[in-house]
Formats: sequence, structure tokens, C-alpha cells
Amino acid sequence: GKARIAVTGLATMGSNLARNLARHGFKVAVHNRSYARTKALVEQHGHEGEFVPAETAAELVASLQRPRQVIIMVKAGGPADAVIDELADLMEPGDMIIDGGNAHFADTRRREAALKERGLHFVGTGISGGEEGALNGPSIMPGGSAESYKHLGPVLEAISAKVDGEPCCVHVGPDGAGHFVKMVHNGIEYADMQLIAESYDLLRRAGGMEPARIADVFRTWNSGDLESYLVEITAEVLGHVDAATGKPFVDVIADQAEQKGTGRWTVQEALELGIPVTGIAEAVFARSLSARVDQRSALTSTSDAPVQVPDTLVDDVRAALYASKVVAYAQGFDQIRAASEQYDWDIDLGAMATIWRGGCIIRAVFLNRIREAYEKTPDLPSLLADDYFRSAVENAVDAWRRVVTTAVAAGVPVPGFSSALAYYDALRSERLPAALIQGLRDFFGAHTYRRVDKDGAFHTLWGADRTEIDA
Ligand code: NDP
Repeated sequence: GKARIAVTGLATMGSNLARNLARHGFKVAVHNRSYARTKALVEQHGHEGEFVPAETAAELVASLQRPRQVIIMVKAGGPADAVIDELADLMEPGDMIIDGGNAHFADTRRREAALKERGLHFVGTGISGGEEGALNGPSIMPGGSAESYKHLGPVLEAISAKVDGEPCCVHVGPDGAGHFVKMVHNGIEYADMQLIAESYDLLRRAGGMEPARIADVFRTWNSGDLESYLVEITAEVLGHVDAATGKPFVDVIADQAEQKGTGRWTVQEALELGIPVTGIAEAVFARSLSARVDQRSALTSTSDAPVQVPDTLVDDVRAALYASKVVAYAQGFDQIRAASEQYDWDIDLGAMATIWRGGCIIRAVFLNRIREAYEKTPDLPSLLADDYFRSAVENAVDAWRRVVTTAVAAGVPVPGFSSALAYYDALRSERLPAALIQGLRDFFGAHTYRRVDKDGAFHTLWGADRTEIDA
């Protein structure tokens, strides 16, 4: 018989995804631009399930049941366009192309619209969890039409990670919704890692603790409400000793963080939507700053005086990490909600928390709470307004302030902690100095302002007798 589904692009991600499909009993056709990868996959893993190797795209398409479903796992950008064009020419109305790469959601929207004109379904799908996830169960965020999900859903849900028996795969929404949510997922991952890094830095530089002891602290945290993959692997990395030098591994790594760009995309889109995602933005900027070796070497100094560190530092940092993390997620979910409104995606926010509970890098027990919050109140104005998170953050706030104060006094940069606290304090403030900003704008540019005590727009004649007029 014919194959149920196909994968083209058999580098790390594609070959692992194909193996995952085969292991779940789906007969999978496999193809790669250069045949060597296809051959190697079938030779090494052919016994894991039913593979149908194809030398050309035409052979691949011909080997499939209808409606045909081809997952592409090639380099994002130009290569993806080339592969999509080639496949589309070989396909018939009703067939589906699933892009599992890290595409920008705007590219996905463009491709979906173009293929729809030809009667084809284009399903931009976020896949998280790296190579390990692709093989053993990733978190999957499919966009595209509801019609395409009827065919694809059962396959994608079967190969996805499972938590409490539920698949970490839900139809996110039409066209670019899946890739948008994957992008924000990556942005939150940046924020999460930045907050973890700040926690380590403070415990080490202000608290005077060695990496091995900090590893123990993270291990302990991983059995509480911070339980998550990233906290777990932080203990692993901090506990690791470099074989060559006998030094803590973290001390022999060059401290210049790299980035592939999805964090930057998240912040760029947040700016377009007018949503403050300060946690993600600070994380992206902190990575950029770390890479500015020239500036850092010009300014390096170690002259900071010792500071008084509270005895409660470890517990305080735990509280600050938790609260800042709540803020980062609140901001990320705000961004998803805003995009969902802007593009008519009708995204179920609670379901997004469900998808991320397993298979992906930001998997965490905490996501259950986010799901509960949105199940209880689907139109929650902010995660911070949910009863559970509101009291969790209120309980943490004194410790959080002590952490930021200590860091500032000790000269340890905590842009994640401090910007998250500023965001929280701003939302809680009854009056913000935005009133003064409006006054200034009216003064220099006659931009007008609204008043607290009556409707309408007003302007003060600043250059004349300062009477107020209706604008
Ligand atoms: P790469 O991004 O390194 O892409 C390599 C694959 O793309 C090869 O199969 C290559 O074929 C193919 N390719 C490149 N250019 C072309 C072209 N012009 N025409 C046809 N095929 C082409 O592979 P990965 O497996 O790392 O990632 C695949 C996708 O998944 C990417 O979009 C990536 O961003 C995304 N992703 C990756 C994750 C990861 O952890 N690596 C996690 C989640 C998503 P050939 O062998 O012939 O060179």
C-alpha cells in the first residue's frame, strides 16, 4: 500500500521525526535533496518501521495516499520556498504541505494564501523539543485550516509528547497561528533562561556560593513549584566539572551568548502589536550585550565594595525567579492574545499552556496553573490577575524587592528581575506618570490630552494665556 505521510529534509530534525512516525506505525515516505541522507536513514533505522525511500520529489508524491501529506523539515527561508514550490507543482487540490521548520509566521501567512489559491493546504507547524523531542515526542503547534487538521491531527497527536495522557499538540488556529505561538514559545524560553542565569549570578557573586552548591540549590528548587526542564538541566550544567582543567564547567565556557533570531522576532512583533514583553526583550538584549567583547573589555573592573547580603538570599532568589517567571509568561500570553485578535486566529490560551507542558524546552509543572487560570476565566486580562498567580506574586514581592536591592548594591546586573518587578509595580500603580508625558506632548506638539473628569480631547494654549480649549 501507499505511505500515510511523507517527510522531506532528513537532517537531524527531519530524520528523527520520520523515525518517530515509523515507530508509531505510520508508513512514512522519506526524501532529501541529496539522496545520501535518505539512504543512510533507511539503512540505519529501516527496522524501526515502514519507510518508503524516494529519490525525487515526484517519486515521493507518487508514493502517498490521498489526500497527500508531506512534512518539510528543511532550512527556513529560501530553501523552504524552493521545496514548497517543487511539491506544490506535483500535488493536487486537497493535498497538504506541512512546514515543520522555524519559519517566520509572516512567511507562513504568505505561503498559506498562495497555496490556498491552488486548492492546497499549507500547514505552518511549530515543533519544539530539538532533536530529542522530534524522536521521542515533541510539542507540536500546528496552524492551517481546520479541514487539514482533521487529517493531520491524529498523526501529529500520536507522535507528540504526552502529559497525563494528553497529547502536547492542539490545532492552534488558521494560517500563521502555529508558527506565531512557536515564536513566542522561543521568546519565553529566552526570558526563562535569562532569569535562571541571573539567579545563578546573584548566588555566586553576591552570595559567594560555588557552582556545585548552586547546582544543589537548583536541584532542590526542581522539587517545588519551579519544577521544570530548564531548572533541572541548570543543576546538571552547574554541577558539571571540566575534564581537562578540573574547573567548574561553567567557568571554562566563553560567556558570550549566541542567538538564532526567534527571540528577536518575538520582540519585533511585540513592538508592532504594542505589547510590552520586557522579560523577553531584556533577555535578547542581555545576550547581545554579553557578545560585545570590545565594550566589556574596555570597562571591566572589579572594584565594587562588598555588600550586606540578607541571610535569606537563597529563598529570596527563588521567590524572585518564580515571580519574574510569572511576569514573563503573562507578557508572552498577552502577545499571543493580541496577535490572535489582530489576525482573527481565535487562539485558546489555556490550550497553549497544555501543549507546552511536555516535549518542549519550557516544559514545566507551572503550566498546569496557567491552563487552570484560563479555563476558569478565558478572558483573563492578565495572568497576574488570576487569583492563584496574584497571591503567589504578592507573597513573593518582599523577597523580590530584597533581591533587586541586593543586586543593585552589589553591582550584579539583573535586568530580568528588575524589569519584571517594574512591570508588576507599573500595573499595580493607581496613577502612572504617563499623565506628565501627555502634558509634555501637548506642550511641545499640541498632541492633546484627555481629562480624568470629563470626556473629549483638550489642548492648553501653552504659548499664549494657557487657557484650555476643546481639541
Ligand atoms: P537544517 O536547518 O540544518 O537544514 C538541513 C536540511 O535542509 C537538509 O535536509 C538539507 O538538504 C535541506 N536543504 C537545505 N537547503 C535546501 C534546498 N535549497 N533545497 C532542498 N533542501 C534543502 O536542519 P535541521 O534538521 O537542524 O532543522 C530543520 C528545520 O527545523 C529548520 O527550519 C530548523 O529551524 C527547524 N528546527 C530545528 C530544531 C533543532 O533543534 N535543530 C528545533 C526545531 C525546529 P541536504 O541534505 O541536501 O543539504
